[in-house]
Amino acid sequence: MKLQERDRAVNWHPYTQMKTADNVIPITRGKGVYLYDDRGNKYIDAVSSWWVTLHGHAHPYIAKKVSEQLNTLEQVIFAGFTHEPAIQLSENLLNLLPTNQHKVFYSDNGSTAVEVALKMCIQFAHNQGQKKSKMLAFKNAYHGDTFGAMSVSGRSLWTKPFGEMLFEVIFIDTPTSENLESLKNQILNHGDDIAGFIFEPLVQGAAGMLMYDAEDLDELMKFCREQKILMIQDEVFTGFGRTGRLFAANYLLEKPDIMCFSKGLTGGTMPMGITTCSNEIYNAFLSDEKYMTLFHGHSFTANPLACTAALASMELLLNDETQQNIKRISQQHFQFSKILEQNSQVENVRQIGTILAWEIKNNEQTSYFNEIGKLLYNKFLKRGIIMRPLGNVMYLVPPYCITANELDLVYTNILEVLSSL
Ligand SMILES: *Cc1c(COP(=O)(O)O)cnc(C)c1O
Repeated sequence: MKLQERDRAVNWHPYTQMKTADNVIPITRGKGVYLYDDRGNKYIDAVSSWWVTLHGHAHPYIAKKVSEQLNTLEQVIFAGFTHEPAIQLSENLLNLLPTNQHKVFYSDNGSTAVEVALKMCIQFAHNQGQKKSKMLAFKNAYHGDTFGAMSVSGRSLWTKPFGEMLFEVIFIDTPTSENLESLKNQILNHGDDIAGFIFEPLVQGAAGMLMYDAEDLDELMKFCREQKILMIQDEVFTGFGRTGRLFAANYLLEKPDIMCFSKGLTGGTMPMGITTCSNEIYNAFLSDEKYMTLFHGHSFTANPLACTAALASMELLLNDETQQNIKRISQQHFQFSKILEQNSQVENVRQIGTILAWEIKNNEQTSYFNEIGKLLYNKFLKRGIIMRPLGNVMYLVPPYCITANELDLVYTNILEVLSSL
């Protein structure tokens, strides 16, 4: 039987309506920016396989480090035990983060990193005998698919079946210089009831790569600090160079209390999530009372293989070549954004670092337009490029190893596809 048929017989794919889904494409191997299917076609992975791959597929250095680790220690319970890769990774990561981040809590993915952050935030209040029942978040936010993460994400048709079971969240607009005062007032209206504020800094990824200014976020964070509202900065997507700097935090003056990481953390090699926090948060859980403990953990907490992949990926990320590549991609994106702005099919072009996004103008209110994402997806696949438009929002989030020529080839294809619409 063909791989596609065997797949359809047993697999249920994420975010996929299985009834109407096209056949999936069996991928047999990856190398650098390319993925190869079972028929020998190759694809440029222009979305870094759901925004995770930093240095390209099957990177030899990461593979070498992980395979060495695999032969040394593959897993150990992280309660009562520790290991070098987890210690080294925590040390290295904390060195790069805002100076108030002091402790690292490991989990398995972005959603769990967010769950841990929410629990830290809510129990922080609880441990001090305060009752705070609400979270603050941005409209259109996306923080993951587990229940806590869903609760603080924008509500939509996707979350509707669970609506009654999600906890209460105050949703506000992302800040602009015009609405800041109004946002502050909305926050004040809820007084002391807010346990914490969770946000995607500078870019709301899943919402369609919506971007907003660091200055305005800083102002909002400053206000939350004054109001003693804890801040969770979800850098699951923006972390590890995506925005052109190591972290979105590097654009900000204010420091969050808690931060979340995943996606690029291991260079896209293995699943892992990290939640970091300040000593202030950490200390609020120290007590002779057992119930003050953070009762959270996963079987694979701080898996040594994932920690090793993350260490190797961060080493690659910090080397000159990668840093140059990130700069170069950012510049290429910037130049191409100017060309896109001239295109009559295109509007709302936006860019930060290696993330470039734009929208297809809705010239006719037709059902065709609702299907435009899928149509574009297929057009690019035929051309050997993986793009996954979010509705009419197209974006590029390439691995940092993409060459100038490969990126130019992607741009050329984009212009050709646009003119074919
Ligand atoms: C993808 C994402 C998550 C969820 O991460 P998963 O690993 O998919 O669970 C959380 N927050 C942000 C900002 C994300 O982009």
